[in-house]
Amino acid sequence: MKRGYTAYLLCAILLLYSGPPAGALDFNEAIETHVAVNHGPSTDMYIALTFDDGPKPLTPELLAILDTYGVRATFFICGSFVDDWQAEFDLLCDSGHEIGNHSWSHPNLSWLCEYDIIEQLQPTNDLIEDCSGQYPQLFRPPYGAYNQYVIGAAGRMGMATIMWDIDPKDWKDPGPEYIADYVISRATSGSIVLLHEGHPNTLTALPIILDTLMAEGYRFITVGEMLGLYPGIARKVRNEIDYPLKPEERGLF
Ligand SMILES: [Zn+2]
Repeated sequence: MKRGYTAYLLCAILLLYSGPPAGALDFNEAIETHVAVNHGPSTDMYIALTFDDGPKPLTPELLAILDTYGVRATFFICGSFVDDWQAEFDLLCDSGHEIGNHSWSHPNLSWLCEYDIIEQLQPTNDLIEDCSGQYPQLFRPPYGAYNQYVIGAAGRMGMATIMWDIDPKDWKDPGPEYIADYVISRATSGSIVLLHEGHPNTLTALPIILDTLMAEGYRFITVGEMLGLYPGIARKVRNEIDYPLKPEERGLF
């Protein structure tokens, strides 16, 4: 067998076993196909900023910066953090930003069975809905770790799994210039940017990112808006789901 052909065959096998690619899907497609979304459509100059791991003590400062620019973002929060930062969470709920589910206590969900995955997701959804009046329709797995059980459980709860295409690893606290340069140099139409709450350098980088990309013509919208989620599509999807875990018993939806 020729070497080139062997390499081609290997690539084909790898592709076959790597599962469906993440892509620019709309909300319904993401739910129905159990595929994670890592960017939006490349047709418009829209970018979605996402903030994981809140609420945190710096949440009010972050909200104030976004407010200054008139930008709405998507926050993926952990339910168990709310106990310590209730006032910050209340502020977020009242802010009009989009709030998604980042699990209860930030475990690696790909190591859990479906029952435990639901136990991580449901109470966080309840908290968000009680506080904001919005049932979360977006889910981000902690560590970006998911498998078909994780994505399937989230989907049956009416949530699309959202990844990203730009990750400056701001949680490692590189300098604000590094964070800003990383995001600005990679930003493209449909980008979903992963940032984290609780890091001062991220807050310093944010105005640089917003000023620069807005001057280039980009506009910032939420992930849900990017996926064409509104209005009312998700509720229809949830109602049509044949849920295997007896939602009426679990109080889902
Ligand atoms: Zn996280």
